[in-house]
Parts: sequence; structure tokens; C-alpha cells
Amino acid sequence: MTGRTPARFTADDYRARMERAVRAAGDAGLAGLLVAPGPDLVWLTGYAPPAATERLTLLLLTPDRDPVLVVPALEAPDAAAGAPALTLRDWTDGKDPYAATTALLDTGGRYGVSDNAWALHLLRLQKALPDSSYASLTEALPMLRAVKDAAELELMAAAGAAADATYEEIRKVPFAGRRESEVGADLAGLLRRFGHSQVDFTIVASGPNGANPHHEVGDRVIEHGDMVVLDFGGLKDGYGSDTSRTVHVGEPTDEERRVHDLVREAQEAGFRAVRPGVACQEVDRAARAVIADAGYGEYFIHRTGHGIGVTTHEPPYMIEGEEQPLVPGMCFSVEPGVYLPGRFGVRIEDIVTVTEDGGRRLNDTTRELVIVD
Ligand code: ZN
Ligand code: ZN
Ligand code: ZN
Repeated sequence: MTGRTPARFTADDYRARMERAVRAAGDAGLAGLLVAPGPDLVWLTGYAPPAATERLTLLLLTPDRDPVLVVPALEAPDAAAGAPALTLRDWTDGKDPYAATTALLDTGGRYGVSDNAWALHLLRLQKALPDSSYASLTEALPMLRAVKDAAELELMAAAGAAADATYEEIRKVPFAGRRESEVGADLAGLLRRFGHSQVDFTIVASGPNGANPHHEVGDRVIEHGDMVVLDFGGLKDGYGSDTSRTVHVGEPTDEERRVHDLVREAQEAGFRAVRPGVACQEVDRAARAVIADAGYGEYFIHRTGHGIGVTTHEPPYMIEGEEQPLVPGMCFSVEPGVYLPGRFGVRIEDIVTVTEDGGRRLNDTTRELVIVD
């Protein structure tokens, strides 16, 4: 998350996003938003400082004034170039940036603070403005970045296509006799070759490791007869990819084939449930019902999906209890799985976007069980 996002969005695009954020904050009863370096700042302004540091960088979005970026003086030139739609308020070492910041805020107001703001900075702000209160930006405005515009959807589709190209290539490498970590390195190399600037995860979970959805890669040597869960993604041009496929080394058993078919059917059912107005939990229910009806319900041990955009995991979540209705332009994963402890796991995952007519997959490699060497 360093450097600038490519100049695909204009200053007007960022201004529109910031205006939308201020309106949403007002609707949520917030006096404004305090945005630290990270995905919210990139999405709102296009600016990604080299690294979040102990020097305060903070975007102030309030209804009564233009957006202000409080920024260390030594980073101000980069910020001016990276965030064209902003007024900068720079501060030099030795000065107190917190007093200067809180002077721009209302005492007694409630502010949404980006989740990844450093505690150091928030504690100092609280001290400088003790009558104000603070809320997690993600909890207060979970849908702020959820609905993608046409340009964002193009970038999401391109990231998905790059992940798909990665899957097409990885099927050609030998699996049997190599360590999971070696295949994982191949996945990372391919993602980068197909344009990813950041690789967030490369899961290669072979045989019994596949039964643990949190397994990433290990030293286990993949054997003939293994099911292997592959789950990989990252950022390409600032937008995320995340796809899973499960392959088999050599001929699978009837049971392996049956479980794979079941997960494929569940993934299809989750996908088919996607349309505007349907609650997120309905996507989870549709996928889960297929697996439960087949008697494997206790082996599907995670939510069906998560949102994705400028990060690879974010709201909305496809989970029981989430009543948020789907809106055209939302992007999220549909990724049911079955995990048989000590034996093997299967997961199939596509990123899906909501259109007026239903879901559109941003991953479209075969969901059949692929046999690898
Ligand atoms: Zn097998
Ligand atoms: Zn995934
Ligand atoms: Zn995922």
C-alpha cells in the first residue's frame, strides 16, 4: 500500500467521494471523519504516504469546510502531488499537530476515525479534545466504499482476470513432490507477472492441511492423491483480487469428487442468490443450505463471503444476521467450503459483483475439479 494509485481517477472523482463521505457521516450522526493513511485515505484522495508513522497525517472531512489534510511538512510536496483535491495544513517537527488539528474540529462532536489510525494519534486527539467522542469508521459507515462505480468495476474485473490467468498457469506446474511454500511462491510470482503490485495471500493447503481454512503455506511436501486448496489474491492497480480453486494431484476418489461437486453446487447457489435488494445473509443461506442438506453442514465453518475493493477483506459480509441489502456495484466473494478434519478440504471462491439483473462473476476459470501432476 505504498506509492500512489495510478492516475485513473481525477480530482473531481475524489471530490465527489469526499462529498459522499461527508453526507454519509452526517446521516450517521457524525460531526465528521478523521482519516488516517490507509485504504480509506487512498480511496478518498488517491494519496498513499510512504508509510504511516509517528508523525501525524490525517484527513479531516467535516460539513462546514473543505477537506483538509494535516501532513508533516517534509511530506507536503508528495501530498500536494498525490492528493490534488485537498487543502494541506502542514506542520513542522517540534510543533504540536494535535492542537492545530483539533482547532478545526467541533468540541463535543462525534467523529468517525479510520480503523487503522494509530492509537498514539487517537489518544493525543482525545486528550486535546476531551469532550468529543470517536467511532470506528468501518462500524459507523460500513458501506462507504462498498458500491463501486464503473471505473472501479473495470479495475476489479482486471484484477479478477489477472487472478484467473494465475490459476490457468499454476495448473501447469508440478505439484507432487514439491513443498506448499514452493507452489505458493509460484502463485505470488504469477500474480505479479499478471500485474499485481501487492500479493496479500497465497494459500496452498494440501491433504490434511486443506481442512484448516487458516492454513497458508507450510513445508509439507505435496503428495500424489492430495486435494490442494489454492486461494490467492492481492492488489492490481489499487483494486483487489481473491479467488480459490481446489485441485487434485492425480485421480481423485469418489468421495473427493462428491465433496468437490457439493461445494461447487453450493457456490453456484450462493451466486444465483445475488440480486439487488436481497440481504447479504441470503447469499450465505443459499450456499449453506446446499451443504447442510447433503449432511456436511458442520464442516462448513466460516461465512460465505466478504466485500473487496481497495482492500481484499472489507464489508459487506455474507453471513447470517447481515441484513444489508445488496446494491448494484457491490463486489464480494462467494466462497463456501467443506473441511474434513485430518483429511482434506475444498473451497471454491469467485468475486461477484451485483448488477441490476443479478450477479456477475469477476472470476471465471473452470470450477470443475482439475487434475494436476
Ligand atoms: Zn485424493
Ligand atoms: Zn480467498
Ligand atoms: Zn476471500
